[in-house]
Amino acid sequence: MVEEEETTYFNSCLNTYYSLQNQYNSAFDKEKQVIIKKDGLSWKEKRKLFKNIKPKCVNCKRPVGTIFLNRRDKETDERDLVATCGDKTSPCGLKIEIHLGYTDNIYETLKTYSKEIQEFKKTIIQDKNNLLFGYITPSSAVQIFDNVKEDLVKTADTYEYTQKLCFDIKNNPTKHKQLQELEKEYKTSRLHMKEIMTNLKLSNYDDEQKMREYIDVYIHRLLPTVQNMMLLKYQYRAVEYDETDKTYHLVQNSNSIQQMEWYLGDTPARVVSMQTGTGEEKIKQPRVKKPKPVVLQKKRTLEQKEQEEEEENMDEGRGEGEGNFENEEMREISDEELLSSMEE
Ligand SMILES: [Zn+2]
Repeated sequence: MVEEEETTYFNSCLNTYYSLQNQYNSAFDKEKQVIIKKDGLSWKEKRKLFKNIKPKCVNCKRPVGTIFLNRRDKETDERDLVATCGDKTSPCGLKIEIHLGYTDNIYETLKTYSKEIQEFKKTIIQDKNNLLFGYITPSSAVQIFDNVKEDLVKTADTYEYTQKLCFDIKNNPTKHKQLQELEKEYKTSRLHMKEIMTNLKLSNYDDEQKMREYIDVYIHRLLPTVQNMMLLKYQYRAVEYDETDKTYHLVQNSNSIQQMEWYLGDTPARVVSMQTGTGEEKIKQPRVKKPKPVVLQKKRTLEQKEQEEEEENMDEGRGEGEGNFENEEMREISDEELLSSMEE
């Protein structure tokens, strides 16, 4: 399998895992809701009923449950997703095991290094003060300083490397060039539309051919350009559902979570086993997946949201938008706007 196929297969297995887990939890929740809504039962009686709920295994549908595990190796921090039948003596064929490895977000890594650097600096100041006040001898002060200095240099180097990597991802030159070209195309189309409009006005809006030309430029030139600009500008665009307040939110980020993650594990992420159904059905195993950032389409936590906001701020700070079009112009033009521009 080529790398792209491997990634697609890996992601589809991840989706299968999470959708099975979701299906299982929803069914379980439904059964719980039935008990909660029952009238005339005490809290104790309801609790007893809760305990007696036997959720059905997602695979064999027997009331034995399914075991979903999100294991983490304490030493390596690598993670595995596991799903097996809840019947320990006679389990069905469900056997899903996905090795996630260990991925970290580049921003998180940067934050960690930055904190470490601050700690080292603090130690050096403390060391200096301790020497000044005579708490330690000059030789031990030098010893401490040398040790810290070495660690500080190493961490600062890694920090710089990570920062450069982060900068390169965010300021991809190819993307930047493509955006500039699209921006040019956008401006040309707008100008063309304005010209036609001027002529239209002169004809008192009585030139059908010009009218058609105007709409044609809008539909076939301006719209595709704006759409391509949006795709390039926002690598992640999705409407996300917030379960807590049951609302939908449009999320637009210049980089996807996947782009900002890097693989730091010892063993590559891969699908170890993807066995569902009766046990005979075995999904074809892919070759070992090369280390590659893995995207988990998880619900965004508050922390992630804050971080994304920070990313946006960093965007501004790094001048990614330099020479770019204004955000105002990035939006698709609504029918009302088109009409009002025609009236100009
Ligand atoms: Zn089962």
